[in-house]
Amino acid sequence: MQITRMDLADKGSPEGIVMAILKAEPNLPIPVPIEELCRRLDIIEIQALTTAGFEGGLLTDRERSNGIILVKNGVSPQRRRFTLGHELGHFLMPSHLPDSEGRFLCSEMDMLLLNPKEGDRRAKMEVEANRFSSLILMPPPALRGEFGRKSVPSLEHMLALSKKFDVSKDAMARTYAEHHPEPIAFVVVRDGKVLRNYRNKIRFPYITALRGKAVPERSLFYRKGLQIGVPSDVDARLPDNWIYVERGRQAPRVSEQVYLQANGFALIMLWYEPADDPDYDEDGERTAKERLKHRQSRFT
Ligand SMILES: [Zn+2]
Repeated sequence: MQITRMDLADKGSPEGIVMAILKAEPNLPIPVPIEELCRRLDIIEIQALTTAGFEGGLLTDRERSNGIILVKNGVSPQRRRFTLGHELGHFLMPSHLPDSEGRFLCSEMDMLLLNPKEGDRRAKMEVEANRFSSLILMPPPALRGEFGRKSVPSLEHMLALSKKFDVSKDAMARTYAEHHPEPIAFVVVRDGKVLRNYRNKIRFPYITALRGKAVPERSLFYRKGLQIGVPSDVDARLPDNWIYVERGRQAPRVSEQVYLQANGFALIMLWYEPADDPDYDEDGERTAKERLKHRQSRFT
């Protein structure tokens, strides 16, 4: 690697900094060697974080001459990579100032923040650090190659990409929902309750299932015989499980795919097809397989 912080001079946003890194390192391998990148960019040490209740931290001085990143012990390699990206983001964004002099401390909740409340300066920094980490670990040009015109969205594809980019399923699900050309969302479930969801706010409608409440009762989630670690097939379900459907109008179609995990977590992929889609099929008699085939045929 050739890059130095000089290549990033005058860049302040996550997007601007990541673009400058990719310009200086056009052959950056996938998975992105994030530790090496940190060292090239003046992170002189990566240490274990011992402060309870925090996921990551950054020690630096006012001039940002260099930095030390702290990562919680015992987390998965993928979570560690995300934390490194997040703290590197704090280090490289000149507008990011820590709560206490010279030290950022970031919680697990900070690492999940996607939308800051207006006027919350600290939350805005956390959101930017997360955006930076996602962008550098899953660089948009590399993702575009994966989301070609024939890319049929599926949990299998999302899981394969999380392996390829060496990021957690959760981090890839966020990025997949945001960038896949089809309107996709992921619902994260824990112990049968909706925990959070990821969607592209422009292309996927508001998800009405409430956080902390049970997964809607007619969801594919309840199908008998689902196996842990094996994605279900894709099946169309009633759209009003998840989104608001206006009475008296042709309902949009929402297909679901469910992935149960061993630790009580589950991911549900939602694939939205608007009602005014010219490909909309009125024939409710089609089997789920035929409908899927029909939808997939648009990609071939
Ligand atoms: Zn942070």
